[in-house]
Amino acid sequence: MTKVTKIVIVGGGAAGMEIATKLGRKVGRKGKAHITLIDMAEAHVWKPLLHEVATGALDEGIDAVNYRGHAKAHGYHFQQGAMQGLDREAQQLILAPITDESGEELLPSRRINYDYLVVAIGSVANDFNIPGVKEHCQFLDTTEQATDIRKLLLNKFLRYASDEQLQERIKVAIVGAGATGVEMSAEMHNAVNSLRGYGYQISTDLLDVTLVEADERILPKVEKPQISESVAKQLKAIDVDVRTNTFVVEVDEQGLITKEGNRIDADMVIWSTGVKAPDFLANIDGLETNNINQLVVKGTCQTTRDDRVFSIGDCTALQQPDGSWVPPRGQSARQEALMVADNLISLMKGGTADKEYIYKDLGSLVNMSKFHTVGNLMSFLGGGILVEGKVARFVYTSLYRRHLIEIHGFWRGTLMMFMKGINRIVRPHLKLH
Ligand SMILES: Cc1cc2nc3c(=O)[nH]c(=O)nc-3n(C[C@H](O)[C@H](O)[C@H](O)COP(=O)(O)OP(=O)(O)OC[C@H]3O[C@@H](n4cnc5c(N)ncnc54)[C@H](O)[C@@H]3O)c2cc1C
Repeated sequence: MTKVTKIVIVGGGAAGMEIATKLGRKVGRKGKAHITLIDMAEAHVWKPLLHEVATGALDEGIDAVNYRGHAKAHGYHFQQGAMQGLDREAQQLILAPITDESGEELLPSRRINYDYLVVAIGSVANDFNIPGVKEHCQFLDTTEQATDIRKLLLNKFLRYASDEQLQERIKVAIVGAGATGVEMSAEMHNAVNSLRGYGYQISTDLLDVTLVEADERILPKVEKPQISESVAKQLKAIDVDVRTNTFVVEVDEQGLITKEGNRIDADMVIWSTGVKAPDFLANIDGLETNNINQLVVKGTCQTTRDDRVFSIGDCTALQQPDGSWVPPRGQSARQEALMVADNLISLMKGGTADKEYIYKDLGSLVNMSKFHTVGNLMSFLGGGILVEGKVARFVYTSLYRRHLIEIHGFWRGTLMMFMKGINRIVRPHLKLH
């Protein structure tokens, strides 16, 4: 009997979901390989939409894709579990025990055999070991954290539903003015506007959003300063207090403390500075990692010390021939996933992993809720093209459209996008529970 190759993918995000789908369709369905996707969650929510989940603009109950159902339809298998370790000699992935909310063990620790392993567990916000961040800040790395932010916000707004005279201000500080921080600031403003339609006597005048950035400009990773300027102007127009050159050294119950010793008061702090791979990846069973725990890989996305272990997406450190590093972005995660699927199919057939990943920067777009969309397209052409308004908004949504088409197929993916548009018209604009 011929041995069926076992391919295990851990992490079903932007990268993991696309590679599992492609491999499932191409080789899993035909029984040529046994493809298993493992994720700690039950359902996939596309990470770039998490700020919308946090403000209630997106209902994760509707937009989430259940892994088990998707696996059945696309020729792969799914197991729920969190990667905890690796035994490379035995070619086994080690999963943590699963417990219920009260801590009772539902499933013990498990070991999953693999012939090839693809690590795609993404990243988390980097707290840079700044005192108080872990204890006092909200993060936006998982759907649970996004729904926690929504619940906290709604609790804060509750009093405005019953007291028309209430003039107390709500202070929110967002640390890190990358795309996540900027989009979150605008979405927050939009959510408060929408709440009035549900009987909350709150106006955006009572919401103070402060966006704090250590760099001298917002969106510091975006090459074109004009984009930062355009976004800063829009943020000002919706009364977001933008503080650049402001380095946070501590967070406490009252808010932020800056390097100069100044205080920025906040009822809620959202931490969205930089990324790092999950801490447990550092030195995992002898694999090479960098200072932010990312697995260092070769051009083929195989880890430098083990050809059977691949890494893709945000948890990966991949240096390009020009010396630059592939940035942690949705588009690079997707491109790596599709390429590694080809390499794995070639290996299964007795060939080699000969495709090497070169990052093609299609551009960066920042969507400020309904207020403004701006960005740079086709940066790989050198300089790129600056776009704003409706065109930019269309291209911004096309990254998600492509993801839906990739994981559901053309017709189903297009239909889902269409239904999302209809839902925006017929359903409440905010999720209030
Ligand atoms: C609010 C926001 C907006 C963004 N906007 C954009 C944008 O406009 N354009 C863009 O290009 N990028 C954007 N990004 C970045 C983009 O989301 C990431 O680069 C991309 O999702 C990375 O894909 P990934 O598959 O590596 O990780 P993820 O998509 O984060 O997926 C990781 C998966 O691994 C699972 N996982 C984690 N740990 C474990 C474990 N131990 N065991 C099992 N499973 C685990 C998680 O549940 C998750 O499903 C945005 C990010 C955020 C937070």
